[in-house]
Amino acid sequence: MLGVAQDGGIPQVNVQDDPAWEDESLRRRVVSLGIVDHEAGTRYMFEATPDFREQLHDLNEIAGTEGAPDRIFITHAHIGHYTGLMFLGFESMSAENVPVSVPPMMEAFLTESGPWSQLVDYGNIQLTELLSHQIVPDENGNPSPWGGWYTGFSSEGLRIEAFLVPHRREFAATVGYRIQGPELSVVFIPDIDSWEEWAEWGTPIEDIVMENDIVYVDATFFDDNELPGRDMSAIPHPRVSETMDMFQDYPAEIRQRVRFIHYNHTNPIRYPESEQAQEVRERGFRIAEEGERVCL
Ligand SMILES: [Zn+2]
Ligand SMILES: [Zn+2]
Repeated sequence: MLGVAQDGGIPQVNVQDDPAWEDESLRRRVVSLGIVDHEAGTRYMFEATPDFREQLHDLNEIAGTEGAPDRIFITHAHIGHYTGLMFLGFESMSAENVPVSVPPMMEAFLTESGPWSQLVDYGNIQLTELLSHQIVPDENGNPSPWGGWYTGFSSEGLRIEAFLVPHRREFAATVGYRIQGPELSVVFIPDIDSWEEWAEWGTPIEDIVMENDIVYVDATFFDDNELPGRDMSAIPHPRVSETMDMFQDYPAEIRQRVRFIHYNHTNPIRYPESEQAQEVRERGFRIAEEGERVCL
């Protein structure tokens, strides 16, 4: 886990009194996941965030490698999730043909608008848009019952699939990813508008949690009391409290699969000792931490 914060990072710009300006241990990078395939000697990154410099450095330190990731997977076109691609460009590392998998509609967005088009024109990145005709069949050879699955990538022992999720789509669709390793599977859903809407599309989050080992989920806000003076009912994202309620009656082994990411600077779970962070732990769920690792 290379980062856990919402797009704006922690502390967020113009929040002058955030204690993280003084206390570096409270800082959190924007959400990103890295994979190291020790056997193949390859590294993959999910999202290219504004903290891409530090995150690629850490990934290379862990893997004992250097250079750009062997592939980058992007979930959507909001600033915390793709703008780090700029560091691959001419003014920075001048990378060569880094494969970047992007959700539907995002290839056109990056190719047709500057400064991103320069990355394509100069051959710094090579875009592959996830295509709907690449639906992954289930074990019986039928299209996946969840629908809307896309192949992202596969190599020996590792399969990465994408799936559409409901989320504001100004420039491109939004996906989440599922990473299947030799023994464990991990799901990555940093941004989603609501579990209900996704269930209406045919994908209940309960099924995802039941069928996978670790599920990193959108934890932008803790509850509706978080932005004082603002009516939060119109603001999307499942609240941490709501997600916990959904899984409250599940066995402990299932609850601990749920790990919270993408937390906003206002979300009290950013402080490990807050009442809310303690509540998450006591109820059997987890708050993802930067640097945590999972052996796939
Ligand atoms: Zn986001
Ligand atoms: Zn977003």
